[in-house]
Amino acid sequence: MSSPISRSLLLRSALASAALGAASFAAEGQPGHAHHPAATATPGPCEAFIEGQPGKRFSTQEIRVSSRCDLFTVHLVHTGRKPWQQAGHNWVLARSADIDAVIASGMQAGPDRAWVPRGDARVIAATQMLSGGEHASVSFPVARLKAGEQYTYYCSFPTHAEPMRGQLVLVDAAVPAGPSLAAAQNR
Ligand code: ZN
Repeated sequence: MSSPISRSLLLRSALASAALGAASFAAEGQPGHAHHPAATATPGPCEAFIEGQPGKRFSTQEIRVSSRCDLFTVHLVHTGRKPWQQAGHNWVLARSADIDAVIASGMQAGPDRAWVPRGDARVIAATQMLSGGEHASVSFPVARLKAGEQYTYYCSFPTHAEPMRGQLVLVDAAVPAGPSLAAAQNR
């Protein structure tokens, strides 16, 4: 007899394996891992680092996304200690206008789906649900965001969605010039 919890763990293991390649920023900064950006590194122009903290808190309440990015990546780390079944954190993005309905659908989806409705077009991006000490990244095409629209990110763990949320804002700011952009401008 397969319990919901064990199936959920299997699903999470598969997701965690898939995310390992992209989610190595919390590699403690060992000298041998210098090619991995450390958690304290300055984020690139098309990514953001955010902590899910004890006490149902995100470390930041606003993420600004340049419309000049093709893809935007959010790196989430759960800085607490509890397993996800007790106090998980994830990062879910939707239009602010959809957020209540998405949260309600997520509660119906239940723990097997990390309280995120599967295959729901209103969910623009979502990491998997993390336990303390875990990290994950998710990327989404910036073309999915519309100028003038309001976007909200939140944690879908029950009772976390209200305190753990923030605004994601599409801005027309230039991506700070890196070597590749500077080279393109010189053509
Ligand atoms: Zn949470």
